Amino acid sequence: MTGRSAGRGGGAGVALRDGGAGAAGAAVAAGAGVASAGAGAGLGQAGQAPYGRMPAAQTLPGQAPPRPSRKLLLHVCCGPCAIYPVRALAAEGEYAVSGLFYNPNIHPADEHARRMEGAKALFAAEGLPLAIAGGCEQGAWEARARMSEDERCETCYRARLSAVARAAAERGFDAFSTTLLISPYQRHGLIRAICEELSEGSRVAFLYRDFRPFFREGQRLARDAGIYRQKYCGCILSLRDRAAQSAGSTGGTGGATKGKTRDSGPAEEMAT
Ligand code: SF4
Repeated sequence: MTGRSAGRGGGAGVALRDGGAGAAGAAVAAGAGVASAGAGAGLGQAGQAPYGRMPAAQTLPGQAPPRPSRKLLLHVCCGPCAIYPVRALAAEGEYAVSGLFYNPNIHPADEHARRMEGAKALFAAEGLPLAIAGGCEQGAWEARARMSEDERCETCYRARLSAVARAAAERGFDAFSTTLLISPYQRHGLIRAICEELSEGSRVAFLYRDFRPFFREGQRLARDAGIYRQKYCGCILSLRDRAAQSAGSTGGTGGATKGKTRDSGPAEEMAT
């Protein structure tokens, strides 16, 4: 990593607003309104196991599903990357999951809105609270154009994850995590290291899961559920790179998107 300050790029705490599912921002603060495991049956194909390859939480007939004893604030980068982790964590049953959509890197504003709406639709269908913070901040990411790819993406991760870690601490969550951990096209090790750093010295733990083996399963679930799936990482620089690569250019500086384009399958499978 090129920096060690937990607050780097994160700025002040972000204001949260309701993302739907009948759960106001206050519900995120309290961890209230969180459905128990099994709420995911609203998405996916009819007759399909609600957790893809995962078994649902086991309960005996007449027995209430287990109530999660801990509260998790999950950073949500987009609906397609969220659908598998949300259902997997619900199946685990340990954490009541609340989402926080905070991705000011996404450009342009209508793309930000499409990804946000996809996340809201997912959480509404799952019966889970989702808070929204911030919007599209094009200027901030254009200003990163002079940075190296490594530095730019690190500041991008830090800006989002530090805000989520801070919100989790301020609102009494036991842990935080991020849906970025499912994407093989993001810098997984860097994201994990930043989150572990953010949790150091704080009373909020970082919940690490390597969801990457289930990326394509998550994309399939999102496609079947009709959730919008993007074709570039997010920032204006990654959008320009995507356009250049689509036109056959070999250049580009899109960071995580550059790796995505190089390594991924068909464009329709891409997501952050
Ligand atoms: S390529 Fe992706 S991770 Fe890197 S700065 Fe742009 S949006 Fe952020």
